[in-house]
Amino acid sequence: SAKALGKARYEVFDQKMHESASLLLELETALRHALLLKQDEFRLYYQPIVSLITGRIIGFEALIRWHHPERGIVSPQDFIPLAEETGMIVSIGQWVLYQACQQMHTWHEQFPSSLNLTISVNFSGKQITQTDIFKQVKQTLQQTGLEPCSLKLEITESLLMDNFELANTVLSELTALNIELHMDDFGTGYSSLNYLHRLPIKTIKIDRSFVNNIGSRGENLEIVRAIVTLAHNLNMSVTAEGIETVEQLAQLQALECDFGQGYFFLPPMEGAEVETLLAANFCYKNFLSN
Ligand code: C2E
Ligand code: MG
Ligand code: MG
Ligand code: MG
Repeated sequence: SAKALGKARYEVFDQKMHESASLLLELETALRHALLLKQDEFRLYYQPIVSLITGRIIGFEALIRWHHPERGIVSPQDFIPLAEETGMIVSIGQWVLYQACQQMHTWHEQFPSSLNLTISVNFSGKQITQTDIFKQVKQTLQQTGLEPCSLKLEITESLLMDNFELANTVLSELTALNIELHMDDFGTGYSSLNYLHRLPIKTIKIDRSFVNNIGSRGENLEIVRAIVTLAHNLNMSVTAEGIETVEQLAQLQALECDFGQGYFFLPPMEGAEVETLLAANFCYKNFLSN
């Protein structure tokens, strides 16, 4: 009967719920363990950000990966939300910041031609509202020797929505040090254009969901054009995320988008691969000269 079927379905559903709840708990335990005892399970990958005008790599975005002993590589999309919920993001974030600054400083020393390259680090809401975050960032720069102007912090709209006044205060202090502030995933959150001119934002990153279909069918072309115009009118620059095809690249160049990152150029890479690029002083001139 329908009732029995309903019950059976309910039981299946219930079992699935239970499985996913214990999966989450297991993931949380493993994450806590990795954080406390086995930090070598965390790795930073680096994705190049390219000038769409010169074809030069201008810097890298640091993206965390977790090498889980049984599961293999766990995507940040699967554990960063959990880390935020449990507060573990505070320690993870500090690890990421230190690691990223230290790595970029090492590259600056190792490859003189890389001195202008910057490192972009993702910051989440819980990190910004820690009481000593300003001191922490300042100390990390001092300890690693990285110039503040080489560091870019990527924040999201939702971070601002949670506690605008506090975030605004901290972010203004950080930019006063000469650290750049970038607005990540622009257009996907509960956006309010109200904060854009109230914060010292240097660059808007257009979310890849908009970049996705500007190439072939062009549904998002006008949205991207509007974001580029808005940013330029506010004296900000624009980075397009998730460029995968040469058509998307050409459209973005036609719209005068300043920077881009995506699999069309390179995916996030391990440090050793980045060093090969830096040693060759790699440039995309040939792709872009038409
Ligand atoms: P995000 O900051 O917007 O980073 C861009 C994401 O797009 C990265 O995913 C990157 O690998 C991916 N991506 C880049 N180019 C392409 C492309 O051409 N096609 C496609 N399909 N994807 C592309 P990833 O590394 O999985 O990171 C996902 C999100 O996790 C990040 O989004 C960021 O919000 C968060 N995250 C990553 N690392 C950290 C971290 O160290 N701290 C914090 N708080 N969040 C992080
Ligand atoms: Mg980002
Ligand atoms: Mg992004
Ligand atoms: Mg994004």
